[in-house]
Amino acid sequence: MHYVSTRGQAPPHTFAEAVMAGLAPDGGLFLPEALPAPGPEWAALRGRPFAQVFQAIATPFLGGEIPAADLEALVQRSFAGFAHPLVTPVVRVGPLHVLELFHGPTLAFKDVALQFLGNLFEWLLARSRSTLTVVGATSGDTGSAAIQALRGKRGMEVFILFPRGRVSRMQQLQMTTVPDANVHALAVEGTFDDAQDIVKGLFNDRAFNARYHLAAVNSINWARVLAQMTYFFHAYFQVLEQRPGMQMGDPIQVSVPTGNFGHIYAGVLARRMGLPIARLILASNANSILPRFVASGEYRPQAVVQTLSPSMDIQVASNFERYLYDLAGRDAALVLEWLGQLRSAGRFQVGPERLRQVQQDFAAQAVDDAATLATIRQVHEEWGYLLDPHSATGVRAALDHARADLPTLCMATAHPAKFGDAVRQAIGQAPPLPAALAGLEGAPQRVQVLPARLQSVQDCLRRTLAGRQS
Ligand SMILES: *Cc1c(COP(=O)(O)O)cnc(C)c1O
Repeated sequence: MHYVSTRGQAPPHTFAEAVMAGLAPDGGLFLPEALPAPGPEWAALRGRPFAQVFQAIATPFLGGEIPAADLEALVQRSFAGFAHPLVTPVVRVGPLHVLELFHGPTLAFKDVALQFLGNLFEWLLARSRSTLTVVGATSGDTGSAAIQALRGKRGMEVFILFPRGRVSRMQQLQMTTVPDANVHALAVEGTFDDAQDIVKGLFNDRAFNARYHLAAVNSINWARVLAQMTYFFHAYFQVLEQRPGMQMGDPIQVSVPTGNFGHIYAGVLARRMGLPIARLILASNANSILPRFVASGEYRPQAVVQTLSPSMDIQVASNFERYLYDLAGRDAALVLEWLGQLRSAGRFQVGPERLRQVQQDFAAQAVDDAATLATIRQVHEEWGYLLDPHSATGVRAALDHARADLPTLCMATAHPAKFGDAVRQAIGQAPPLPAALAGLEGAPQRVQVLPARLQSVQDCLRRTLAGRQS
């Protein structure tokens, strides 16, 4: 199994090479050169534990690069810390089936993929006897999920930059109370954009990058999409158990709260591998670039607006390029043409036939903050279930697209306690803090405060890494 770039100008990479590189050398995103043929085999996974489903679905994508026993141990280790025996349980909420993806250490769905990626990095580094310095900028959630995934891992130092005073108290505590020596939380005196610019500066400094083997864990890494694909299957089997009349192979629809398009793209791939997803419902918040694209075929970023679902406050969805490559019939030249128009004219437009394809692939809906709050309230009142604002966008879109003949699965991407303020606005009280968060108050913090300058951050990394890198 080899991986090719969506921009068509990178040599084929192995699975390990694609995971370690993150972004392809031509600036594109990696995709498998061909999907494993859809077969009936996956149906035999019904009733199996999460880890077994994960391993079976992921294996064909690894090209034999990880021995089965090692993969099994790696997957077991990745999900042992989840607070639910099913790892990602499906619960019934009124007419809906809700997949709870928030039982990991930071209570958000990014834990599922990042826990796997952390262990995968460790395994690959042990094999190649090399080391990595992971750097990332965060506006809150991704940083804590990355820290939890990489803490204590051999061969890796992790530096997470966040804007000082601009993340929530819980988010800061999740990053600064981790005692492991390989974790470094850096509070930068600036905005999130400043922090992100510094990280880009680190990667662009070739000498620095080569010396310290910088790596990123952002959502374009192929291993994250791969990990997310597996639980679409696991969830389908749970829906089957919950609906007595339903037969294996009967279609469902799936609603996905969408920001960077990684999550829903995993659903696109699961469907191509034969999972009977009749319809994918793409839910956005007021940042509605993707619903507008599905309606018109025009892709045109606007200014980002802040919403109650900050992890979806995105205009240029980085994983979308993977879908564009498929839509172009794997013609990288056409992808480059679209991206060129986006750069020069701020927009591009796909033709009517491709638009028809898009509309077959997705239903889409933008859900603003007022509708998000109303949905949290409605679901709580009618069915006694508490949603976080990200999950609420998906549930709103699902309820509006409900069909009597089609079971609807909604992805719940964060625990409501993580976004207590929004929940309080909706129902008048904040949810109780789960133990994972309650224990953080009063724990000792480790954080370095730095000016928002590339030079200061480079000095900090050099000092910290002196003597640790071989
Ligand atoms: C990241 C995130 C999303 C969006 O997922 P994408 O893969 O970026 O589309 C939705 N909800 C929560 C809570 C998230 O953290």
